[in-house]
Amino acid sequence: MIGIVVVSHSRALAEAAVGLAAEMVAEDKRPVIAIAAGLDATTFGTDAMAVSEALGAADSPDGVLVLLDLGSAVLSAEMALEFVDPELAARVRLTSAPLVEGLVAAVVTASTDASLDAVAAEAERGLVGKQDHLGVAAAYAAPVVEADRTVELVVGNEHGLHARPAARLVGLVNGFDAVVTLTDLDNGKGPVDAGSLSMVATLNAQQGHRLRVGASGPQAAEALAAVEELAKQNFGDGPGSAEPAPAGSPAVGSAPGGSGLDVAIGPAVLAGAQIDLGAYVAGDNEHGRLDAALATAGEQLDELRDNHGDIFAAHLALLRDGKVLDDVRTSIAAGASAPAAWRQVYDQLAAAFEGLDDAYQRERAQDVRSVRDRVLRLLVGVTEEAPTDGILVVPELDAATAATLDATRIVGIAVRAAGTTGHGVIVARSRGIPLITGIGDVDVPPGAVVSFDARTGSFEVAPDEERVRATITEREGERARAIADADQPATTRDGRTIDVLVNVGVVQDAVDARGADGSGLVRTEVLFGDRRTAPTVDEQVDAFRAIARALGGKPITIRTWDIGGDKPLPFLPQDREANPFLGERGLRVFRRRPELLRDQLEAIRRTAAETPVHVIFPMVTTADEVAWALQELGPRDGLEVGIMVEVPAAALRVGSLATELDFVSIGTNDLTQYTTAADRTNAAVAPLADGLDPAVLQLIDHVVRNAGVRVAVCGDLASDPQAAVLLAALGVSELSAVGPQVPLVKARLRQADLRRVDTAAVLAARDAAQVRGLL
Ligand code: PEP
Ligand code: MG
Repeated sequence: MIGIVVVSHSRALAEAAVGLAAEMVAEDKRPVIAIAAGLDATTFGTDAMAVSEALGAADSPDGVLVLLDLGSAVLSAEMALEFVDPELAARVRLTSAPLVEGLVAAVVTASTDASLDAVAAEAERGLVGKQDHLGVAAAYAAPVVEADRTVELVVGNEHGLHARPAARLVGLVNGFDAVVTLTDLDNGKGPVDAGSLSMVATLNAQQGHRLRVGASGPQAAEALAAVEELAKQNFGDGPGSAEPAPAGSPAVGSAPGGSGLDVAIGPAVLAGAQIDLGAYVAGDNEHGRLDAALATAGEQLDELRDNHGDIFAAHLALLRDGKVLDDVRTSIAAGASAPAAWRQVYDQLAAAFEGLDDAYQRERAQDVRSVRDRVLRLLVGVTEEAPTDGILVVPELDAATAATLDATRIVGIAVRAAGTTGHGVIVARSRGIPLITGIGDVDVPPGAVVSFDARTGSFEVAPDEERVRATITEREGERARAIADADQPATTRDGRTIDVLVNVGVVQDAVDARGADGSGLVRTEVLFGDRRTAPTVDEQVDAFRAIARALGGKPITIRTWDIGGDKPLPFLPQDREANPFLGERGLRVFRRRPELLRDQLEAIRRTAAETPVHVIFPMVTTADEVAWALQELGPRDGLEVGIMVEVPAAALRVGSLATELDFVSIGTNDLTQYTTAADRTNAAVAPLADGLDPAVLQLIDHVVRNAGVRVAVCGDLASDPQAAVLLAALGVSELSAVGPQVPLVKARLRQADLRRVDTAAVLAARDAAQVRGLL
């Protein structure tokens, strides 16, 4: 590993910079960093002798990189090179990299055992991230040559010039004897080389951005004409994609769903499992090995593209990206092994994708990682591709992964972190993907057969497959029977009928729901969550209408925008808050900005004129807020109006909040996090955030006894059939669950005799575990 020397006029400055950079990597991965700074601890100045001593201290056969601050620091360092052993001097590189950013980049890169060249290159690029963020065009100044001619065009693609259209552009451009560049006139980035996918995709050109395309060379005119033609076809994404996504049809949740069971078996698919380079022995022909691996990877991808289409064309373009390959070859020339160089450059590229604005484009980092691993496998001789079908084992589950994974291949998800109310878990559940959380750090070899049963909370490596398959068959039967009876009312043995409704995030949730007595929660911020501009009133009416239609005209409960916390809305940016879950969330946001709420209420009223609609306001705390919301709503005209009870203060004074209301709906996800002071997105405290905590149940009991109006539960506790029985026994009359659970909740309620549930014992229980035992 290379060593690093920091030369500065100020010891305090150098020590603080080193402290900051050292924080970025684990202690055992840190390079040696020596400081030559200040004439003493408090006097500013630089000293060549001190620098030469520091060089000696940081010396390594791999070289030493020297980062410097102002003027005489450079002179002192140059002089120090005269003092030290010429062999050491030959291994030393002085860099013009910025001290802080360069040092951070250098320490991080050096920790990966990168070569001196590679570390120096990274340090020198230290300002790029900041320049990029602040829109300093210089960071992108890669004009290959002055363009002979230019054209302007507009990006029509919904997700901008993301990897696939970018790949088509790159493929097209590289077919001409011309140098083509792109400049994004809206974000000020560019010009970049249009023949490099990494450059084009990270240009971050969004839908509606104007691009200036420049070209020079013998076929400049032909290249420009071809690019214009491709742009007219939305870069091959098809004519429809120029339009914004129709209201209510965001990608989230529209992919096919899972089995709806709570048990699964399959080979473990470990997210982010690294290919081990430990056994790789570098030779003297690393360039040749890389070329051979690239050729084979190219053949594999050619075949995949022919059979499976477009995405593999993007992979091919990534594989053959000249700019990226140059970086890899430079790093190999500087002494890195082929796989180390390849991994490092592709990791950086993936990180660049992850920094893009558009969520879809960000996810393309997974394409980069896929290409990275394909070549790494070839280089290190791993023939087996990591399984892509089976049970996904992840440390935590984010909503994007849950929404986009292919449920026909991933038959279940095992999450190491505990917790059931994060949005990733909610999305996976609403897609019916079998899921278990809280499996902890159990050792799971990649590809090993694993199984889980969320009902019993068991997760097994190398289980008795026959037994698990028998359980699956049994649960499938149970599920089939529940679905067959789904349209029957959920009338308990003691004669109470509980309405069981479905929570809707996308229209498809309503389409897929079996047996739902309506929707108890339409999460509008999810429904329009992928929009960059606010939906119009008409668009909202269309989406609400589609949901009502899918549910056969049964009542739907539309929740007004519930943004904040972990739910941002791109078209309603919020200020950064230190404590967003305790900040401007839900209704609180709109007291300062009522216009968007007014549009939504207008859409809700118009929908209510056609079909039964309830409206519900989220994150209410005070009676004053209720009065304000009712005033904004205006005449009710048959609309039923309610509030979410998610804040303990609202639960405790529900009687005074509900005087003018028709119903309240308890959001147990938030009520639990606020009652137990356990952030629902923080895996470390997830075991605390248990909806069956008796403290939460006592609040629910209090709400039922004091609301004076109908009480519903739409938090995820209502999706758990056992908890559903308890909620009904406490007096809740309406439950809204994730779609795949609706038939099971109904079936369980039909089997229950609510008089036999010992609610007093449950409320007096010591903790959630004891409640579970009692149930
Ligand atoms: C809740 O908090 O329980 C709820 C239903 O709202 P969300 O999960 O959308 O915050
Ligand atoms: Mg909530």
